[in-house]
Amino acid sequence: MMFRADVITLFPELFPGPLGASIIGRAMNNGLWSLNATQLRDYAHDKYKKVDDTPAGGGPGLVLKPDILARAIDDVSPPDDPRPRLLMSPRGKPLTQNYARELSKGPGAVIICGRFEGIDQRVIDQRNLIEISVGDYVLCGGEVAAMTLLEATTRLLPGVMGSNQSEMDESFENGLLEYPQYTRPAEFEGQSIPSVVTGGDHKKLGEWRQEQSKKLTQDRRPDLWNKFKSED
Ligand code: SAH
Repeated sequence: MMFRADVITLFPELFPGPLGASIIGRAMNNGLWSLNATQLRDYAHDKYKKVDDTPAGGGPGLVLKPDILARAIDDVSPPDDPRPRLLMSPRGKPLTQNYARELSKGPGAVIICGRFEGIDQRVIDQRNLIEISVGDYVLCGGEVAAMTLLEATTRLLPGVMGSNQSEMDESFENGLLEYPQYTRPAEFEGQSIPSVVTGGDHKKLGEWRQEQSKKLTQDRRPDLWNKFKSED
């Protein structure tokens, strides 16, 4: 079963962008996942191809019209489509490694990119859109957020990454941030690699890495650290 991603956007030309590069780009070429970007404006019904209008009740900016977005969603994703319908939104549930992993086990996703002030609430309600946020800041549109979600998800698809171990060791996978990494040369600007890393004692190295992970998490992310301790 192939992971199928559909993106509804006013800027389909931005895709695949970074999703076409490196391991996930190769995975797409090899048929492990597919990406289809749909131009929302194609579903406008007036001759000006109008997709937005002024906010009801007043206020700045423009709001994407619900009827046009609903037509695009229904065309790309009929009612029996098993894929979740996601709306990129700063009000959404925060994107996490766990959520990306959950999505990667499913049939794909239909992703709606907002623009302007956002989209009419009624289409969110009527099409059961799940709002997903990539962080507590505001972007101009949902496209970069959609790429972030798809990049985090598709790299976890079976067969995309070389080694499962590199995946399981990563930040967030065990509730901690990753330990420091080193490679050649043995000495860089007078600083050498910690001897425990090059010493060849795998048990000791494992302990050191776990210790470093804990220390980094405690220092930088008290939120993750408290969660880790409470689950330990
Ligand atoms: N007025 C809205 C922000 C609109 S930004 C508000 O205050 O909530 C325009 C579009 O960019 C949004 O509809 C959404 O699709 C996208 N976007 C902006 N910030 C985002 C974020 N942090 N996560 C996901 N999508 C975001």
